[in-house]
Amino acid sequence: KKAEWARLVNERTVSKDGYHVELAANIGTPDDVKGVLANGGEGVGLYRTEFLYMGRDKLPTEAEQFEAYKTVLERMEGKPVVVRTLDIGGDKELSYLDLPKEMNPFLGYRAIRLCLTAQDMFRTQLRALLRASIYGNLKIMFPMIATLDEFRQAKAVLMEEKERLQSEGVVVAEGIEIGMMVEIPSSAVMADVFAKEVDFFSIGTNDLIQYTLAADRMNERVSYLYQPYNPAILRLVKMVIDAAHKEGKWAGMCGEMAGDEVVIPILLGLGLDEFSMSATSILSARNQILSLSKEEVARAIEQIINMETAEEVERFVKDTLLNSH
Ligand code: PEP
Ligand code: MG
Repeated sequence: KKAEWARLVNERTVSKDGYHVELAANIGTPDDVKGVLANGGEGVGLYRTEFLYMGRDKLPTEAEQFEAYKTVLERMEGKPVVVRTLDIGGDKELSYLDLPKEMNPFLGYRAIRLCLTAQDMFRTQLRALLRASIYGNLKIMFPMIATLDEFRQAKAVLMEEKERLQSEGVVVAEGIEIGMMVEIPSSAVMADVFAKEVDFFSIGTNDLIQYTLAADRMNERVSYLYQPYNPAILRLVKMVIDAAHKEGKWAGMCGEMAGDEVVIPILLGLGLDEFSMSATSILSARNQILSLSKEEVARAIEQIINMETAEEVERFVKDTLLNSH
């Protein structure tokens, strides 16, 4: 199978009926880019910048961050690179920030919430990104957006730093797309409103599932509630994709679900534009999509969305949409 997939490395990902989707990779460090290209990634759909901040005793400088972002953009040779601004907190701690312990870290002071109050740290990252922007095809996205106001604030800070850099004579790429993660149910429900102001969505199902079913993604005892195939999740995903398309924007997914063979046909049928997954899943996903007809799956979407349970969805896909070979 591996050898059969190897010839797909340089192929575009086109469904049987001629519909192109982008298969991108999730990365954590510049060194991960090798694996993305070796596995035929058409872009980076999620660069988790947390690793730049972890395993050290102080914040990374603007220069250190600039080097990392520039390296990734250059190595990707003009292919799209979606960089997510700092998503710290929850399960990811930074000892040197000295944040108080919280009762519910996943519901607490993290990600964009922290960045919008600790603005020096946020601005340093944004400047590094803007300065690196001329070395490739950079897109910037904000994590854990719960309200429109947060997105507007984050974008305003970004624009301020852009203008400041330009006034200092620094060249910044024009038309950098600015998007957001949809990983909190409120933003999925309000996707039609957000879609008017963002350039793109990337659905973060790892968190969206835990928040929608109120089941901690790390807690074994409630893992039975962690249901990617639950129709509640599929309906939210559909709302987000439809809302994006209505405004002429694109929608991707960077949660684990994007590389799951049971969900891939559904996502294709829903019209997802970009699938971002671990690099090692790309070729099998491409192989699968080449054999699927988007229009055929699209005809089953109404039925799938109206199913009652996750089990019913899984059984249906396995029986009708997966050719088990
Ligand atoms: C997600 O929540 O789906 C996601 C991609 O982000 P992370 O796993 O880093 O929280
Ligand atoms: Mg997340």
